Amino acid sequence: MLSRSGLPEVPCAKCGRRIGGLPWGELCPDCLADRKRRASRLARRISLAATVLMAAYVALRVPADPMARIYSAVAVLATYIIVRRIATRVAMEYLK
Ligand SMILES: [Zn+2]
Repeated sequence: MLSRSGLPEVPCAKCGRRIGGLPWGELCPDCLADRKRRASRLARRISLAATVLMAAYVALRVPADPMARIYSAVAVLATYIIVRRIATRVAMEYLK
């Protein structure tokens, strides 16, 4: 069956709603937005936990030298950003 745009209507992988031009096995915009919201919430929790661990490690292990403190702060910030990006990507793949 073809939609008005001439593209075949493919059912959403999750809710089964037929959307014209959707690739097979993909989600409709509604389900995708829902998954993104849940993935970002999960990623925020994971990255905060990782950041707390990193901050604890840095506080205990890095000497009290000002330069080392600055690099430690950068490393903690980078941990948050990187872990959050990775966790979001993984959650997008594996959340149902
Ligand atoms: Zn859907």
